[in-house]
Amino acid sequence: MVKRIAIVNQKGGVGKTTTCVNLASALRAKGQRVLVCDFDPQANATSGFGIDKTTANPSIYEVLIAGAPCEKAVISTPYCDVIPVNKSLAGAGIEMIGMDDREHLLRKALDGVADNYDYILIDCPPSLELLTLNALCAADSVLVPVQCEYYALEGLSDLLGTVRIVKRSLNPGIAMEGVVLTMFDSRTNLSMQVAEEVKRHFPGQVYSTVIPRNVRLSEAPSHGKPIDAYDPYSRGAEAYASLADEVIGKNS
Ligand code: ADP
Ligand code: MG
Repeated sequence: MVKRIAIVNQKGGVGKTTTCVNLASALRAKGQRVLVCDFDPQANATSGFGIDKTTANPSIYEVLIAGAPCEKAVISTPYCDVIPVNKSLAGAGIEMIGMDDREHLLRKALDGVADNYDYILIDCPPSLELLTLNALCAADSVLVPVQCEYYALEGLSDLLGTVRIVKRSLNPGIAMEGVVLTMFDSRTNLSMQVAEEVKRHFPGQVYSTVIPRNVRLSEAPSHGKPIDAYDPYSRGAEAYASLADEVIGKNS
């Protein structure tokens, strides 16, 4: 059965897209059938897989707003399948206002292709607005990247509150997939302290894999490749492979 995971944190720059792209590729490398749905109008996951975001059409925007068939939007890459996004999605919140069942547009779209996959990862924008609400309604679970820095926990109670409301009203099946610590720097006490604090806050929900701060992870997107294709022996590639093992273990 397919598992649909929304990668969510309303803070920008915490490692959502990096986690989405590299976890997807690592899952694929372990034999899983994987689709990434880029749902952030900034299209960083789209370009992270080497797809030109200016020409990708139909994108998820055309699927949701103009009714293009979802399977037409799926692009096969050497790493996994990807539904691209373009910046038109930024205005989609307004365009959805008049639409029936507007919170469930993404779920309905993905239903059309879900049977082809073991995992669908949805890369969310840095907000808790209608786009993220659509992702939460389309998801079976939520994976939250938390950056090991000051104020790491700030905003997470708003995020959990939103998930609780969605669970009560729109998507009763939604669950917590896990919390992943990102950009961990073992040389600093701060990273250690944040990690301890996050674990106290989310007992049993924090992956034992911690994603290190690794310059290769920040270089890979400019080459349009996930880390396991860009530098398979980097610490970043090892970390995402290990995270993929944990995700598979939890879901089998
Ligand atoms: P988000 O999608 O939450 O906005 P990104 O995944 O785009 O965050 O990451 C923000 C920036 O940090 C990007 O430039 C990315 O390359 C970099 N980055 C993310 N994770 C790491 C890491 N583990 N080590 C080094 N740089 C990272
Ligand atoms: Mg992003």
